[in-house]
Amino acid sequence: MRFRCFIPFVAGLLLGWGISSPVAASSEAWEAAVVVPEVRIAIHWVSHSELSKVAFEVGKRARTRPHGFSVLRHNPGTREYRCDIYLLKRPARVDDQATVTLGHELAHCLGFSHDEGG
Ligand SMILES: [Zn+2]
Repeated sequence: MRFRCFIPFVAGLLLGWGISSPVAASSEAWEAAVVVPEVRIAIHWVSHSELSKVAFEVGKRARTRPHGFSVLRHNPGTREYRCDIYLLKRPARVDDQATVTLGHELAHCLGFSHDEGG
């Protein structure tokens, strides 16, 4: 499975985000970009247009048609982390694309990042 993700870290509540699409290198290493001791995760099953809308709202556009998307936010006031994962398909098999995409986006929610796609 190959992915391309975009993980910019900016000031404020939005810590990072990632998009999974079928073109990035699967051998790329994860880096612990943010220490996330505890995170509240919400999973949203969305259409392609809804996925694009979320990307636009956080200021990014995928270069390819993504399979999934995650947004990690931190509230400095409460010290709480929240991660929203947007997926096009529900996992149906243990090793299908939807399952791999879900795992990939979960890694981003735990504070992991990678270089591919900037
Ligand atoms: Zn990624």
